[in-house]
Amino acid sequence: MNEDMSKYPLRLEGSDKPMVRFMNVTKSYGDLVVLDSLDLDVAEGEMVTVIGPSGSGKTTVLRMLMTLETINGGVIYVDGEPLTHMEKNGVLVPADAKHMRRMRANIGMCFQHFNLFPHMTAIENCMEAPVHVLGLTRKEARERGLELLALVGLEEKVDEHPARLSGGQQQRVAIARALAMRPKVLLFDEVTSALDPEVIGEVTNVIRKLVSEHNLTMLMVTHQMGFAREISDRICLFYRGQIEEQGTPDELFGNPQRERTQQFLRAVT
Ligand code: ADP
Repeated sequence: MNEDMSKYPLRLEGSDKPMVRFMNVTKSYGDLVVLDSLDLDVAEGEMVTVIGPSGSGKTTVLRMLMTLETINGGVIYVDGEPLTHMEKNGVLVPADAKHMRRMRANIGMCFQHFNLFPHMTAIENCMEAPVHVLGLTRKEARERGLELLALVGLEEKVDEHPARLSGGQQQRVAIARALAMRPKVLLFDEVTSALDPEVIGEVTNVIRKLVSEHNLTMLMVTHQMGFAREISDRICLFYRGQIEEQGTPDELFGNPQRERTQQFLRAVT
């Protein structure tokens, strides 16, 4: 795509700088347009949840932020800096590997299936990236990991391997592991979907604590509407790679304005 990049700012500055900005972002696979000129902001400390029909582009938004997908148009900014672009002669050009690596360190992600390292204990899982990516000493990484495992209520389980933990406990280790990198933005992809109903509460309680006490910026995808309603500052309903409607949970669930939102909510609740 030959896009005129001169319309995009080299960086975002000032008091209204969002933590995350998707600006006119397009992503396609062949002829299939998955994100269609998407504009989406997440403010610092905000918890935004993306909901919508299957195939509407929700997971792609997270994968773009993880730089797991190339971008076909537009620019994504994280804390004011372009994520996959860099400045050259006063305009944005595709970023080099070094810039991408530095920017990727700002983003943490938790997945539906936890993706813990099975041969490592809970604390080793939390220490791995801080030691090998951030260059912390093992002692520093262990202290940080212990603090975070305590934050998620797992101080008793630090030396257990994932196979000996319940799904809810494994997901809490995964959250501690992501936090150990001190990300500016934390992404949650269906983090409660693989869990038994009786342990969902322990994971939502941890996320609620992160929202209320730690001022983290979070972007979540879920199909569990009750969870989304309870925990989010704002809900975005996606339809065909665009935001069809957005608002506070009460606005979106209580008084949806758009026909497609009403249809979607009727089908899932
Ligand atoms: P959602 O999370 O809303 O269900 P996704 O973001 O996962 O939607 O996917 C959006 C669309 O992109 C879907 O139609 C999906 O089949 C398609 N898609 C996702 N990844 C790929 C890929 N690697 N190659 C081709 N199509 C893909």
